[in-house]
Amino acid sequence: MSNNKLERDGKMSKIPIREGLFTGKTEGKLVGFKCKACGHILPPLTLTCLNCYSNDLEGMPLSGKGKLYSYTTNYMDSGHIKAPFTGGMVELAEGFWIYSVLKEKAGKPFEINMEMELVVEKLWDKDDDEIIGYKFQPV
Ligand SMILES: [Zn+2]
Repeated sequence: MSNNKLERDGKMSKIPIREGLFTGKTEGKLVGFKCKACGHILPPLTLTCLNCYSNDLEGMPLSGKGKLYSYTTNYMDSGHIKAPFTGGMVELAEGFWIYSVLKEKAGKPFEINMEMELVVEKLWDKDDDEIIGYKFQPV
């Protein structure tokens, strides 16, 4: 019996929705990039600087803090995300927008410009595994 089989007979494994998205495998902060040529800060999973087109980028943890720029509630499923859910554009402190499913927080209805913070958690189950991604929630 392989280790893999042993894991599968036990509790669920956590699988990141994308490798390299977080500072930990399925925890921590989002990993953005800093361009070594011009210093521009770039979103996760970027391969080329959007300012100078250099490919010389180094990973850096992002703050996970931002402001809600815009949002909408969806009444149709989107892939694995079941309706209704709210998604929106969060303007990160680093100066770019990132799309995210938004997590509700009691007593904090979504409002444009409200402070938001990163949450790394399960998005959905896949077979015996948990798919881990990110959301943003009101601070
Ligand atoms: Zn650059």
